[in-house]
Amino acid sequence: MAESNWTPDQPMVSAKDVHKSFGSLEVLKGVSMDVMKGECVCVIGPSGSGKSTFIRCINGLNDIQSGSITVEGQEVNDPKLDKLSLRKKVGMVFQQYNLFPHKNAIENIMMAPVLVLKEDKDEVEARARELIRKVRLEGKEEAYPGELSGGQQQRVAIARSLAMRPDVMLFDEVTAALDPETVKEVLTTIRDLAEEGMTCILVTHEMGFAREVANQIYFTDRGVIVEHGPPATFFKEAKDPRTKEFLSQIL
Ligand code: ADP
Ligand code: MG
Repeated sequence: MAESNWTPDQPMVSAKDVHKSFGSLEVLKGVSMDVMKGECVCVIGPSGSGKSTFIRCINGLNDIQSGSITVEGQEVNDPKLDKLSLRKKVGMVFQQYNLFPHKNAIENIMMAPVLVLKEDKDEVEARARELIRKVRLEGKEEAYPGELSGGQQQRVAIARSLAMRPDVMLFDEVTAALDPETVKEVLTTIRDLAEEGMTCILVTHEMGFAREVANQIYFTDRGVIVEHGPPATFFKEAKDPRTKEFLSQIL
């Protein structure tokens, strides 16, 4: 990967005037965002406003038409960039956890480091067991996905992503498909990570979480960031009528 002069006093993730279209449909119309190391940012906004598209751009799952996105100073859309090292750096968890059904929790967590990174199996297994503790699933090491609740599976998926030792974690509505009683345990896991200093960007409708954990909240609508701010001011002093209307519907 190209050398970067990035230092931790600069944004770890920086998006500048990002434009993204699918054919003639312009989905991102000049999105900018800076996320510092250790920050937790929540992105909220109506369905179809481009939230998933945007965070997929951060780890290179979507290309962009113009603007720039850097992670630790490295341009994500630089054709010379090694995609594997970007994927290692930027972990992503989706609404659908898609664990391998015929592998147990530990095996699911171990797969990518062993098969993709060719890391030592014993070391990876020790790390996987540590990660199971971190996501509060002790005792479920050998359980198969079918034997776990949705929330437990999602926590295995988070551990699987952490096994690549990312510097940034992206979460795209990871609790949206879960039963209400298991939402909390997944949010607790993410909160633990944020409190340990993991840089996190979450698309979420969990306003309680956003209020308590986020450093910054971004409100998106139809491909633009309408406004953003720390929770204390965002919830009290949202200025744009679109933000106010959205908040009035979900709070
Ligand atoms: P959100 O996550 O905020 O609900 P998305 O980023 O998923 O919004 O989608 C924004 C818009 O982009 C929607 O109109 C959606 O239909 C469109 N879109 C997303 N992905 C694709 C794709 N791969 N091809 C074409 N259109 C897409
Ligand atoms: Mg989405």
